[in-house]
Amino acid sequence: MAQPDSKKIFFENLSGAGKAIAVLTSGGDAQGMNAAVRAVVRMGLYVGAKVYFIHEGYQGMVDGGDNIQEASWESVSSMLQVGGTVIGSARCKEFRSHEGRLKAAHNLVQHGITNLCVIGGDGSLTGANLFREEWSGLLSELVEQGSIEADAIQKYSALHIVGMVGSIDNDFCGTDMTIGTDSALHRIIEVVDAIMTTAQSHQRTFVLEVMGRHCGYLALVSALACGADWVLIPEMPPEDGWEDKMCQKLSATRSRGTRLNIIIVAEGAIDRHGKPITSSFVKDLVVKCLGFDTRVTILGHVQRGGTPSAFDRILASRMGVEAVLALLETTANTPACVVSLCGNQSVRLPLMECVQMTQEVQKAMDGKRFEEAVKLRGRSFENNLKTYKLLAHRKPETELPTSNFNVAVLNVGAPAAGMNAAVRSAVRVGISEGHKMFAVSDGFEGFSKGQIKEIKWADVGGWTGQGGSLLGTKRTLPAKHVEKIAEQMRKNNINALLIVGGFETCDRIKQSASGTKRRVFIIETMGGYCGYLASVGGLAAGADAAYIYEEPFDIRDLQANVEHLTEKMKGSIQRGLVLRNENCNENYTTDFIYQLYSEEGKGVFDSRKNVLGHMQQGGAPSPFDRNFGTKISAKAMQWVTKKLLETFRQDEGRVFANSEDSCCLLGMRRRALVFQPVVQLKDDTDFVHRIPKEQWWLKLRPLMKILAKYKTSYDVSDSGQLEHVVRNRPKESDASVAM
Ligand code: ADP
Repeated sequence: MAQPDSKKIFFENLSGAGKAIAVLTSGGDAQGMNAAVRAVVRMGLYVGAKVYFIHEGYQGMVDGGDNIQEASWESVSSMLQVGGTVIGSARCKEFRSHEGRLKAAHNLVQHGITNLCVIGGDGSLTGANLFREEWSGLLSELVEQGSIEADAIQKYSALHIVGMVGSIDNDFCGTDMTIGTDSALHRIIEVVDAIMTTAQSHQRTFVLEVMGRHCGYLALVSALACGADWVLIPEMPPEDGWEDKMCQKLSATRSRGTRLNIIIVAEGAIDRHGKPITSSFVKDLVVKCLGFDTRVTILGHVQRGGTPSAFDRILASRMGVEAVLALLETTANTPACVVSLCGNQSVRLPLMECVQMTQEVQKAMDGKRFEEAVKLRGRSFENNLKTYKLLAHRKPETELPTSNFNVAVLNVGAPAAGMNAAVRSAVRVGISEGHKMFAVSDGFEGFSKGQIKEIKWADVGGWTGQGGSLLGTKRTLPAKHVEKIAEQMRKNNINALLIVGGFETCDRIKQSASGTKRRVFIIETMGGYCGYLASVGGLAAGADAAYIYEEPFDIRDLQANVEHLTEKMKGSIQRGLVLRNENCNENYTTDFIYQLYSEEGKGVFDSRKNVLGHMQQGGAPSPFDRNFGTKISAKAMQWVTKKLLETFRQDEGRVFANSEDSCCLLGMRRRALVFQPVVQLKDDTDFVHRIPKEQWWLKLRPLMKILAKYKTSYDVSDSGQLEHVVRNRPKESDASVAM
């Protein structure tokens, strides 16, 4: 697998010797910022650079002194799972002035710092860019003042800047997700789920106000994730007369027996004329028009709180590593960049272009050019809005098309969080397209027994947030009952089947194990032969090792890992985490590994083991899984419609489904959703182990190892993986992480 020159590329790009990198967090705090700081520090040290913390954002840079401190590898341990920012953030008036920036430049030069990682919102990044442009002027001034030596101008000639966007609002253009957004969504959805349980006892309407003074992302995506009845966002204000429409909709759902209505209002929601729509206005409206018992919940800072989600930890860790690489590759002429993920690929984007585009959105909203504002927010935002509209608003029967097609939906395999969201979406989109929708219970087994019945729009209300499979699922393969299934398809005149299942979408495991005194946790994860959960969970939780089937290991690796961990635990590190995928090796079992670590760690640490088992499939689905299930299923249903229309023969009144693409798997590759004929998948699949032959996420494993300090034992050229990371152009298909 090794590329002939991968080692060369590795060393050329990764030498940070003689460089000093400083990292700071600025503006509003966001969960996941610590993961980014940790990754910058460890990657910086890994490449041989000196790394400095700047505490309290730009204020610390202006004030200098103790605010600027050299970071050690240990100084960032146990902060991956902490919310907010450990190194402090602030708003700083002084930095907006030339005088303030002059002081800041002086402080950096004194430490020899010419590389800066700024984690913050668009304000902070604008400030950083300005600072960079002024840099050489500032140095000349300092020389004139006599504060620094004349040769400093030459020595510190350029300031390199890289930005990472930390903002719970996801309000930065050019990036799919900003650090903190996913965690904020978790907080919102937890509240919605809590409200839903109390609301079952009373008939109530909840008006939920979420953060986002200028950006409706949190409101829109939480509305999608909980199937809210109405959502109000600044980018797309409702048409005039919306008040009546909203009340009609609420009253219609009540008359169908819904006990709970949810309306989500973004902090910055406005009407078509730019007038704010507040949550209390919405509440008064509902009370006045409908007389419903209505409550307002304003989430406020809760959304910034709590531990960062697995997604944010991975996002921030990957961005931090990429930021260091970007700094090492920057020349005096490269424009300042922000690092981000596009789909699942690390990318570098020109900082000022993104800032300008972000400001354009505001201008478009101010100028009431709302369509344009939505477009500028990006493709994923537009798609969220489209899907929300499609699923939340049922057209009256008379306006629905009639297709005369019957489509059945079923779940197969193990239950996975997000399945119900997918079924709801398929049913509703199917109905909107004019099909008659059928639900099959208990997978193919149920199908063979004729457990099939029509399912209507209202039957799937409230399904997005529920765990497991509400339809019921079985692992039985269709081959066992193929005759009977065919008979049922004929009997019910089913023209198309939409199958949800077969792979685990659960991301619960990625939540962390948190530490106590000098203890190593050995955790067994699920996944059959697929090491995804162990590897990606390992990255999110800061694991020291993750044993998987795809990357074979032997006794020498185990020995190296145990010794590495023992050394680490002799220092200030209190916690070790080792993940083991259930089928990684038939002889090196979880018990074996547990006993090995227990024995070798005697006197240094004790070990605990935990087999996570079925709890990984349980619980309520994460916002990501809800939305991924919803969107992917809507897309699948639209594709089914298209295929049905294409293959329907008018003269015979039948659908002909005999081409290769009559049976496709819809999945995420890089940034795109791709329909791939199942017959083609045969070549890409390892049927014995039930995994794809190529696993895109293997390229993330080097990151986990670097962040866990495998400095000496890790040979990058052997895996050939890091090259992708270094060049920032992953070649394999990627599952998207953006919502
Ligand atoms: P955010 O980064 O979250 O958008 P702010 O807009 O409050 O938050 O910016 C954070 C800090 O960044 C400010 O307090 C200030 O120190 C600095 N900053 C923001 N805009 C500028 C600017 N145009 N010039 C210089 N510094 C700025």
